[in-house]
Amino acid sequence: MSMREYIDEAERDLLHTYNRYQIVLDRGEGVCLYDLDGKRYLDFCAGIAVFALGYHNEEYNEALKGQIDKLIHTSNYYYNVPAVEAARKVKKVSGMDRVFFTNSGTEAIEGAIKAARKYAYLKDGTTDHEIIAMNHSFHGRTMGALAVTGNAHYREAFEPLIGNIRFADLNDFDSVLSQVTDKTCAILLETVQGEGGIFPASEDFLKKLRALCDERDILLILDEIQCGMGRTGEMFAWQRYGVRPDIMTTAKALGCGVPVGAFLMTERVAAHSLVAGDHGTTYGGNPLACAAVEKVLDLFEKYHIIENVREVAPYLEQKLEELAARYGFIETRRGVGLLQGLVFTCPVAPVINKAVENGLLLINAGTNIIRFVPPLIITKRDVDEMISILTRCLGDVAAGE
Ligand SMILES: *Cc1c(COP(=O)(O)O)cnc(C)c1O
Repeated sequence: MSMREYIDEAERDLLHTYNRYQIVLDRGEGVCLYDLDGKRYLDFCAGIAVFALGYHNEEYNEALKGQIDKLIHTSNYYYNVPAVEAARKVKKVSGMDRVFFTNSGTEAIEGAIKAARKYAYLKDGTTDHEIIAMNHSFHGRTMGALAVTGNAHYREAFEPLIGNIRFADLNDFDSVLSQVTDKTCAILLETVQGEGGIFPASEDFLKKLRALCDERDILLILDEIQCGMGRTGEMFAWQRYGVRPDIMTTAKALGCGVPVGAFLMTERVAAHSLVAGDHGTTYGGNPLACAAVEKVLDLFEKYHIIENVREVAPYLEQKLEELAARYGFIETRRGVGLLQGLVFTCPVAPVINKAVENGLLLINAGTNIIRFVPPLIITKRDVDEMISILTRCLGDVAAGE
């Protein structure tokens, strides 16, 4: 079947919840993807910040194949070796004490919310506790995660969601303070907002939140699903500021394509929160998913992924700054590490469409922002190629084509 035929069939069969780019991707190699016709695309999207190690990594693939032949799934009622190994490694790189593996990011958020509510419930036996989340945040699409997502458009049609959520502004400590009540049990934020527009939390804001949480016995929950796993030049973005959360979520690059996430907590929270029977999952932390996590963390070390981010990210920043200076319709660049955004004064969809036509995959973050979340193995040469294609597209857009 031709690409067109596959696309037409997909549009008949799949629920239309995405406006998809009109290509069928077939295989990947390093930082490139190829469509069914064999056309090459430089990938600065990485499956939305997922494929950190790039495509077709032999060692990663072999590890998964080996685990497939051994054991793919068994219930969480039994122990399995990859889960033990993965948990040890995730604990080591995060500095957190306890791990619960999930199948996705949104499930990690659900677990974090449940852990926080249980912690508060055990303190006073009531169930009217409140969570403070941030405007412009994104935490996922299930009902709990949606309830703490600070974008009314995503929530509207699905109300009522879980209750007792209050919203404050990122990097505005007073706006958080004004939402704190005797019932506040948790403050939840992305260390760097991704989907909502690439807004990093400031060091000052995080430190004030930490102090507030310590003072009032409120749990600080950091969502590192997009900004974590090396993307900012630290394994987890909060490590740059030394502001350790009480609960943390991760997913996306954690399994580099195998669906897996996790919520982690300190021993102090774990000792006063979820117990046997409170939470579970059929697939979460199964041997195949955990074999992926284990291998990903090994390969991060082996290939010095974080060092690569630290080396390439300033170069990407500089090149994006140059674009921002050159084109009047680009307002600014912002971001951390290999999580970058170019903010336009106009919708970016035409630019992204042009880029796809020209063999470059990009995604947006909101209407006016192009988001750059490439595989973490990119080189300066890849940045040069991306900038060269993007410049061509910007020229076309500027010329009103
Ligand atoms: C993607 C994302 C989620 C949701 O993860 P899914 O795996 O799509 O459910 C949650 N939080 C943040 C910050 C994300 O970027």
